[in-house]
Amino acid sequence: TIGDALRKAAVRWPSRTALVEGIVSSGACTWTYAQLLRDSEAVARALLTRFRPGERVAVWSANRPEWVLLEMGAALAGITLVTVNPAYRSAELEFVLRQSRAQGIFVQPRLHSRDLLAMARSAAEELPELRFIQSLDQWDDFMSLSSGKTARLPQVSSTDPAQIQYTSGTTGFPKGAVLSHRALAMNGRLYAETIGATPEDVWVNPMPLFHTAGCGLVTLGALQTGGVHVLPPKFDADLMLDLFEHHHGTLLLSVPTMLIRMLDAQHTAARDLSSWRLATLGGAPVPLELIRRARCDFGVDVGIGYGQTETAPYVTHTVPGDTHPQWAETVGRPLPHVEVKIADRDTGEPAALGELGEICTRSICVMSGYFEDPEATDRAVDKNGWLHTGDLGSMDAAGYVCIKGRIKDMIIRGGENIYPREIEELLFTHDTVADVAVVGLPHPEWGEIVAAFVRARPGAPLTQDNLISHCTGRIASYKIPEVWEFVPEFPQTASGKIQKFALRDQYLGRAGRPLKPE
Ligand code: ATP
Repeated sequence: TIGDALRKAAVRWPSRTALVEGIVSSGACTWTYAQLLRDSEAVARALLTRFRPGERVAVWSANRPEWVLLEMGAALAGITLVTVNPAYRSAELEFVLRQSRAQGIFVQPRLHSRDLLAMARSAAEELPELRFIQSLDQWDDFMSLSSGKTARLPQVSSTDPAQIQYTSGTTGFPKGAVLSHRALAMNGRLYAETIGATPEDVWVNPMPLFHTAGCGLVTLGALQTGGVHVLPPKFDADLMLDLFEHHHGTLLLSVPTMLIRMLDAQHTAARDLSSWRLATLGGAPVPLELIRRARCDFGVDVGIGYGQTETAPYVTHTVPGDTHPQWAETVGRPLPHVEVKIADRDTGEPAALGELGEICTRSICVMSGYFEDPEATDRAVDKNGWLHTGDLGSMDAAGYVCIKGRIKDMIIRGGENIYPREIEELLFTHDTVADVAVVGLPHPEWGEIVAAFVRARPGAPLTQDNLISHCTGRIASYKIPEVWEFVPEFPQTASGKIQKFALRDQYLGRAGRPLKPE
């Protein structure tokens, strides 16, 4: 269980630093592993004055140390933590609280001038099961509930639900993936061991804690290998670089867009990043050009992971110093104890080596199901326990997996299948391009056409003609984008991934549908 991992860490590394508030100031709060266990046990006892083991408590907040204490405390108390995206609006919050039937919620009262506490109170009026609302700014009041409580904490099983995480919404409506203690704890450990993490490592964590990457891979990866977890309140490229310099950071886990932002920020003001050894990227396609830039400008090794919320999250990962000649075009091999099958999309049978099919996976890291949604669970996990990821990929003889993209993102133009990733990779190699997303737009003649949304590198003169000539001769003409949009920013999920459906909707909203043929 997550609690076992914490107890073990407190025995192995009692006086080593476990958690550091990610601000550049001498007043930052820190916890050793022994203090983290002590405070987490107090959180568990405080929770048990208001909830029974097996009940569900939500947390709706940006990253802050109390979030980690709640994660650990809930785990020790056998309470399921419902992790809520802080970017949610009222309707989404209410949806998630209603769907998860949460009995309590911890809230960061204000975030980006939004009054989250008032929103939570108003949602609670519609939700009779929600009986407890706690502001995270009144943390000491909550902790005082534990005073004088010394009762033994309950027995928790590794198959008990530790968290319900709502899929982050790159493609649509969120579903609550129920993740067991062993799914999350094992995945964090397998990831940390795969990248060779040690107690000397300092993890500077930009990933939101409500997502498996933040509260699973980094929090539980560092915990099980004795590392230091530096936790900034949000992703900010300059702050990240300052923290790497200040704390002698060694490890990063981020989505590609964050690393792109950090490269831009380093060009503006260079920091000493000599301690940084590895950047691991996942959650979205990792362009080869980004790997090249990171190695060249930051001098770091790069790793790539692939997974999704439903798999807690990683399924595959590369290993540092991989000798596979094309490792950077893959997402590595399945983690230990994780099975991967490429399923033929018509028959469901294993596809031939190198053939494209749906990536399926089976392991103890796969979700227990979508919370109280057996139909959606049956659609995702078949009777043999294989989770169907909805991603297209292939596997080579050595077990390396290549991702083509989401089945839903594939563009079909006049019957031709087009994979956005191939075009994005190519555009990335143009030196005016900082970031790019390629999507399909509905078209009366072709069914769909290719559109490229591009963000320029600072000060770079981006033009459509230059980009078209860059594509010409390098990809087939039917793949060359017919719609070009230059954007200052991309709509993103709170985990920093580009929301392609939002780009498409924004564009269509402006253009009026359907698009006219030229
Ligand atoms: P949803 O639409 O389910 O809400 P999401 O993007 O919001 O999705 P995640 O579970 O975080 O939620 O995303 C997982 C998806 O991200 C994978 O299914 C895959 O499509 C994509 N992905 C993850 N890692 C990689 C990678 N290394 N390369 C390419 N795509 C990746």
